[in-house]
Amino acid sequence: MPASSLDQVVSLCKRRGFIFPGSAIYGGLANTWDYGPLGAELKNRVKRAWWDAFVRCRQDMAGLDTAILMNPKVWEASGHVSSFADPLVDCKKCKQRFRGDKLLEEKLGVEAVAVLKIDQVQPMLLAENIPCPACGSCAWTEAKRFNLMFKTHQGVIEDEGSLAYLRPETAQGIFVNFKHILETMRPRLPFGIAQIGKAFRNEITPGNFTFRTREFEQMEIEYFVDPSGDKKMHFDEWKAGVWEWYTQLGIAPDRLRVREHAKDELSHYSSRTIDIEYAFPWGWGELFGLADRGDFDLAQHSKHSGEELTYTDPDDPKKKFMPHVIEPSFGCDRTVLTFLLEAYTEETLPDGESRTVMRFHPRLAPVDVAVLPLSKKEHLVAKAEELYKKIVHETPLTVDFDVTGSIGKRYRRQDEIGTPKCVTVDFGTLGEDEKQGDKDTVTIRDRDSLEQVRVSLGGIVDALSAAR
Ligand code: ATP
Repeated sequence: MPASSLDQVVSLCKRRGFIFPGSAIYGGLANTWDYGPLGAELKNRVKRAWWDAFVRCRQDMAGLDTAILMNPKVWEASGHVSSFADPLVDCKKCKQRFRGDKLLEEKLGVEAVAVLKIDQVQPMLLAENIPCPACGSCAWTEAKRFNLMFKTHQGVIEDEGSLAYLRPETAQGIFVNFKHILETMRPRLPFGIAQIGKAFRNEITPGNFTFRTREFEQMEIEYFVDPSGDKKMHFDEWKAGVWEWYTQLGIAPDRLRVREHAKDELSHYSSRTIDIEYAFPWGWGELFGLADRGDFDLAQHSKHSGEELTYTDPDDPKKKFMPHVIEPSFGCDRTVLTFLLEAYTEETLPDGESRTVMRFHPRLAPVDVAVLPLSKKEHLVAKAEELYKKIVHETPLTVDFDVTGSIGKRYRRQDEIGTPKCVTVDFGTLGEDEKQGDKDTVTIRDRDSLEQVRVSLGGIVDALSAAR
């Protein structure tokens, strides 16, 4: 069973060093979060698993890492300056501000709200008698469009000429480099360009831990296809591929669902969009989006920059056209949160003791192996250190070394951070106690089955590598 409440995971994350509240010693900064040592490792592994699956292991994909600050004309061309906005409503009583559509969604569902026009938000809030989450009254102002882009200034003069935006999505960095990729990589359609990076949105109501924050990471792909070909096939392949990626890494399929956007809910640039949603403790929420963006972005950038952004068919140089794009867009932090929620398990062991265990997929677990000397006896610790060094040097595994506390406590600690294997060095290993095991053997304990097997020191590297 995954976590039944968000608080269970928030508290474990803080206690064990996955995620801390941001700027905590200064009283915090609302809804900012810092990844601690284990969280940073978990997040890196999520990104690595994503990059491996969708970039490294594919011939048709190339990776990029583009700048956060871009020429402001990019955001005019993309439509973000004019229309990247959410409906903001104020509570007339307590003056707090909220996203009107999200307040309605909780009662009416995403589908019903997505089709609302801005001037329908306030009447609907009043008709449905939706109270202010802060003070409980139902007195709403008319909804205003609130642009979510963070503004900043480049250089020493703060005027209109130096205005810049923190990018609200990583996708545009891909589109503006389309020509560079064509020129340097000479790809053939269909091909994709991927990148992982920070995005910033001045969200009206951030919340639910790292689910909605103002600074977050995305993992995005723009997959360029021939518009005269089978776009539906590419779309469906991505849908299936992403579903498989999530489920293979441990998300239970019955806690995932696909939500197809209704025609009147689609963004102006999209002819088809689906979301993959996860059953978060507070309800279904978007984890991933897949959109058919047509040639909207390339056409806009071509028009605004004056550059020709077309693809020439290498087999028929007379055939020049603007590819269409299928966009698989992942939220990295939401994905990490999902893996945390899904891994969280509280259970009672056969001996009656209870434990909290993070059942991460072995590829995602921030620590692969813990080496634990059975006691603090100096020569036993020295032997365990030797083994620790061997595993670190002969494998790419991340290894923890822990001597403090009883062995039971140390197992529980490793369970709580999701370490798949614990290796215990005991007096049998030293040839001093046959009852514990043969000389030059150690015990490997499995996090999930709790099975303990005795393995020779010579075979330990193979045994641990195979387990991953
Ligand atoms: P939402 O409807 O939740 O605001 P969105 O449809 O605006 O999301 P997209 O623009 O499609 O989101 O962004 C792609 C992905 O980026 C989302 O599926 C989500 O995982 C992630 N994402 C978007 N906004 C945030 C945020 N404020 N905090 C964390 N992740 C986010």
